[in-house]
Amino acid sequence: MSSSTTPTLQPFPEDWERALAIVAHPDDIEYGIAMAVARWTGQGKQVAYVLATSGEAGIDGVPPDEAGPLREVEQRAAGEIVGVDTVEFLGFTDGIVPYDLELRSALAAAIRRHRPEVIVTINHELTFGPADSGEAVLNMADHRHVGLAALDAARDAGNRWIFTDLLDEGLEPWDGVRFVGISATSTPTHAVDVTGHLDAGVASLDAHRAYLDGLADPLDVRAMLTGFARAGGEGLGVDLAISFQVIRV
Ligand SMILES: [Zn+2]
Repeated sequence: MSSSTTPTLQPFPEDWERALAIVAHPDDIEYGIAMAVARWTGQGKQVAYVLATSGEAGIDGVPPDEAGPLREVEQRAAGEIVGVDTVEFLGFTDGIVPYDLELRSALAAAIRRHRPEVIVTINHELTFGPADSGEAVLNMADHRHVGLAALDAARDAGNRWIFTDLLDEGLEPWDGVRFVGISATSTPTHAVDVTGHLDAGVASLDAHRAYLDGLADPLDVRAMLTGFARAGGEGLGVDLAISFQVIRV
C-alpha cells in the first residue's frame, strides 16, 4: 500500500544505459539490488555483475574448492532471472579480501572494461542498521573493503596516471561513471520503485539454493525481501522500493 506520509527519498535517476554492480560475494546483489536490476533490464538497460570473490568460504558444510564453483553457477542463474548475462568473478579469497591497491586496480580494470554510467554496490559501513540503535549488526570485512574500493575505483578508472599497467593491457581510462548507488545504508537518499519486481527478486535470491540450505537458521526469503521493499516504498511513497545512497563521482 502507498504511504500517506511525505516521501523522504528521491527517485533514483534512470537516464542512463549501462550499470555495473560490484560486490564481494555471490548473493550480495540479491538482498534487494536484484529487484532494481529486474526493473532496469526490463527498461532495456544493460547491467553486468562483478564479484570480488566466488563466495567459497560461505557454506559451513562445503569445502571451498567445491563451494566456489557451485556458488558461481548459482550467481549466474540468479543474474539470468533478472536479465543479467554478464557475471564476472575476480578471484579474491573469500573472507579475507583486503582493502588495498590490488583490489582497487582490479575494480578499476573492471570499470574500464564495462564502461558503466552507474555503479551499484552494498553498504560498506561498519554495521548494518542504525549505529546508535544498539541493534546494529557488524558488517563483514569483505563488504567494507570491496564497497569502499568500488567507490574509489569509480574515480580511479578515469585517471590515466593511476594504475598505468592497465593502459598496457589496452584498458583506456573511463570517466563516464556519474554516480555510485549504495544499497542497505543507514543514510539512503534515493530509491528505485520495484513494484511488480518482487517475485523476480525472490526467485533470484532463491537461486542461491546451496547457500540458503547451508544456513544454520533458515531464511524466509520472501518475507525478508518484502520487508526491505516495503521500507523503501514508504520512503519513496510507492508500494515497494529499494533504497540507495547516491554519491556523485
Ligand atoms: Zn556478502
